[in-house]
Amino acid sequence: MESKQLKLEKLNKYWEENCNCELQKTAKQAVFGDGNANAKIVFIGEAPGKKEDEGGKPFIGAAGKFLTEMLESIGMKREDIYITNIVKYRPPDNRDPEPQEKEDCNEWLTKELQIISPRLIVFLGRHSMLRFFPREKISDVHGKLIILDTKEFGKQAFMPLYHPAAALYNGGMRETLIKDFNKIPKALEKLKEKQK
Ligand code: URA
Repeated sequence: MESKQLKLEKLNKYWEENCNCELQKTAKQAVFGDGNANAKIVFIGEAPGKKEDEGGKPFIGAAGKFLTEMLESIGMKREDIYITNIVKYRPPDNRDPEPQEKEDCNEWLTKELQIISPRLIVFLGRHSMLRFFPREKISDVHGKLIILDTKEFGKQAFMPLYHPAAALYNGGMRETLIKDFNKIPKALEKLKEKQK
């Protein structure tokens, strides 16, 4: 059987050639999802920043460093997880992605998640959460484990978190994010029990 890694490579090649996202005109390159294709957990950020646009990998700047530290604090490494963004190209000046840009990259993300089929999807920030839960407020649902029957992924577990870039320089939010992050191992255990 074709490995998940190979499926992801084919998917990225297809979408790199066929994505109509306007951001391609200003970005240096597409930033594909990265990490372990067999991961039990997928993190979804917003869009690549300057460092990611230059380096071609997600979360390699300051927010990524903070994320790696939080992962290590719960006994996980970057190689254990898979990480991607809702938009695969850097918006100019790091502005928020426009609805049309999100829409243009949407099928790419959906297929990516369907290939990996993780036990838990973690949203990093509001934009990523709104893609799946357009009516929720991140301040209400951060750190909560949400299990839903979805059209795209069947029964799926989600956990929204604040974005590490937003939390980096905001003491209160940083504390909340670290606290929420510490709920991840227990959530994964609980989901494993449910799958037995
Ligand atoms: N912020 C994001 O949302 N994604 C990245 O890849 C980097 C920073």
